[in-house]
Amino acid sequence: MAENYDVIVVGGGNAALCAALEARGAGCRVLVLERSPEHVRGGNTRHTRNIRCSHAAADQFFSGPYSEEEHLTDLIGVTGGPENLDLAKMAIRESSALPGWMSAHGVHWQQPLAGTLHLGRTNRWFLGGGKALLNTYYRTAARMGIDVRYNALVEDLIIENGRFDAVRLKNETGGELIRARAVAIAAGGYEANIEWLKRHWGDAADNFIIRGSPYNDGTMLAALMKRGAKSIGDPKGFHAIGVDARAPKFDGGIVTRLDATPFGIVVNRDARRFYDEGEDIWPKRYAIWGTLIAGQPGQIAFCIVDAKTIDRFLPPMFKPYQADTLETLAPLMGLDPGVFVHTVTEYNRAAAGNTELHMDRLDGNSTRGIAPPKSNWALPIDRAPFYGLPLRPGITFTYMGVAVDECARVVDQSGKPFLNVFAAGEIMSGNILTKGYLGGFGLTIGSVFGRLAGREAAKYARA
Ligand SMILES: Cc1cc2nc3c(=O)[nH]c(=O)nc-3n(C[C@H](O)[C@H](O)[C@H](O)COP(=O)(O)OP(=O)(O)OC[C@H]3O[C@@H](n4cnc5c(N)ncnc54)[C@H](O)[C@@H]3O)c2cc1C
Repeated sequence: MAENYDVIVVGGGNAALCAALEARGAGCRVLVLERSPEHVRGGNTRHTRNIRCSHAAADQFFSGPYSEEEHLTDLIGVTGGPENLDLAKMAIRESSALPGWMSAHGVHWQQPLAGTLHLGRTNRWFLGGGKALLNTYYRTAARMGIDVRYNALVEDLIIENGRFDAVRLKNETGGELIRARAVAIAAGGYEANIEWLKRHWGDAADNFIIRGSPYNDGTMLAALMKRGAKSIGDPKGFHAIGVDARAPKFDGGIVTRLDATPFGIVVNRDARRFYDEGEDIWPKRYAIWGTLIAGQPGQIAFCIVDAKTIDRFLPPMFKPYQADTLETLAPLMGLDPGVFVHTVTEYNRAAAGNTELHMDRLDGNSTRGIAPPKSNWALPIDRAPFYGLPLRPGITFTYMGVAVDECARVVDQSGKPFLNVFAAGEIMSGNILTKGYLGGFGLTIGSVFGRLAGREAAKYARA
């Protein structure tokens, strides 16, 4: 058995670092085990930009107040009601302390970014984005004397009679055991495990694009479940948006998102429309497109816009397909020209007479006499050149995780908490997020429960 620690933290993203910093702050000897190489440390946290926090008043970085009540109403609105309301309320209550805590651990802030999601009142932007956040936390951790090991894949946990004893690290010689008095597990979701996704989605999962880290494969979630942890959340459920089909398979991050959907129409591989592109405002609908496209043949779709709207959304990362006629655009996307022209012509007939586009509201410029309808922003697609943007499901994170109690202790199938096994972040977010998502709330959960897991692990270790 290798060196003894008070607290081992498994994972190297936001939740893990919050746990490590708190445990070290409480005087523990802490080891962080991050399976990735150092230059890509930090999992999906690398891609983040802002965190959602309750606050009483506007300040230099929030454009207005955001009460706990409003925060909870927003959460219930998107999730339909959290799995564990008490934990959700705790996350919201504790979120107000996060900006202060983060600043005390070196984080700097920047003015809210404008853009399609309009989050300046509810969310706080950290300067430099997720990589800067992580670099700051790792620097602070080093200063505080926290040990970090990279390329450290934890493949199993030794737990006996509800009590954690050691982690087993994978290495060439067959595995290394490292003991500690408590463990905090913050190893993300299982969205990068295509085989796992296939259990629920079949071969369709081969066509999914994973927006974040290839290292979040659920090894720790599986290990916890094997040791009797209670799972929580829909195993098929994930947060998924429409990303450019030409994006890299993993880790494309934020820039591969396509924001064009409400400005045009979306057709599938058969060149047919399949959903109302103007159903609601973008922040409320962008996250349905991943799952919608996952249900289409070949898991591919194409957003079609024309010269009137091509400059109205965030510029795409990859060049759109472009042609002067609809007939010549179709083959560039591999679509049947006859069906494609018919689809656009029928849509244009249903949108005839609409000339205005008011993206700041539901403008009521809808189609008439077509199914599915386009309920708002339905301008005809009739001014060359015409453009096509290929879309695939871009998986952000999975919902299923392990159940925890109000001390962030992992709970077993009988409802009893393990003595010294704590979890934080995406691996337990299913306690709160059952479906849907509030922008910036992933970091809220990870920070609140990471801090809690670190404090509680330290309390156990030093008792
Ligand atoms: C493109 C994109 C943008 C996003 N933007 C935002 C945003 O602006 N705000 C927001 O709140 N949320 C955002 N999210 C969601 C956010 O990334 C997550 O909610 C949050 O980062 C999760 O933190 P975490 O610490 O739980 O997991 P992660 O940050 O993913 O960290 C998991 C860590 O565990 C490590 N690991 C995994 N398995 C093992 C193992 N077996 N052994 C050792 N280590 C292991 C990984 O290498 C990684 O370091 C975004 C996600 C994506 C993909």
